[in-house]
Amino acid sequence: MVKAEGVHKSFGAAHILKGIDLEVAPREVFCLIGPSGSGKSTFLRCINHLEKINAGRLSVDGELVGYRQKGDKLYELKDSEVALQRRDIGMVFQRFNLFPHMTALENVMEAPIQVKGEAKAVARARAEKLLDRVGLADKAKNYPSQLSGGQQQRVAIARALAMEPKLMLFDEPTSALDPELVGDVLDVMRGLAEDGMTMIVVTHEMGFAREVGDALVFMDDGVVVESGHPREVLTNPQHDRTKSFLSKVL
Ligand code: ATP
Ligand code: MG
Repeated sequence: MVKAEGVHKSFGAAHILKGIDLEVAPREVFCLIGPSGSGKSTFLRCINHLEKINAGRLSVDGELVGYRQKGDKLYELKDSEVALQRRDIGMVFQRFNLFPHMTALENVMEAPIQVKGEAKAVARARAEKLLDRVGLADKAKNYPSQLSGGQQQRVAIARALAMEPKLMLFDEPTSALDPELVGDVLDVMRGLAEDGMTMIVVTHEMGFAREVGDALVFMDDGVVVESGHPREVLTNPQHDRTKSFLSKVL
């Protein structure tokens, strides 16, 4: 579903991603861990072309991200074409970024109406189902300020799902939450995984990675240091850098 081959990304003189190779299979829960500043968020942002890569190839569902290939040549996609690629990818951030002036239901209805031109009634019916799925059917009329952080994050997940994405990217979705609210969000993500959603999850929740993850990559300083099945990597890390990182977070 996602394939990265020799992906490099620099910001000015700062070389952040230094040749990332990895492959995410359909229906896989792919967990990405690593120290602060190692390039995890940057990599996620490259996947939906919020950042342009400087070298290498990155594809989602067989399509190059941001480019079209003809023969040996790469052509940049137009903004409208990038937007089309992007709407198949859902993203959930550490901060929930809900629209503050809209209710939970309106937040979830918004993108399908604005981006896909969907009829209001259709968008509303789906949004109601999705709020039910994330356990918030009774909060549909609440504004974000009337919801806990964990509830807001579940609305954010429902909002991403409303576009019926083929891939979901999660960037530390529980890091900003009080500990007692983390479980509900992880449960929603677990349910998504069980339904077969392909997910890339940047997380510090090693329990989630171990129980739900199909693959785990440890990234440090812009390279993939180690990858494998989460249970293997977490219980039997091979590299010193992985061992040292895990000793701090486990
Ligand atoms: P964290 O765990 O703290 O979220 P991370 O692994 O997600 O860290 P990134 O956010 O990808 O790390 O950042 C990697 C490096 O890239 C950092 O040194 C950061 O300062 C730099 N960086 C990220 N975005 C930009 C930008 N737009 N311009 C310049 N430098 C950037
Ligand atoms: Mg980050």
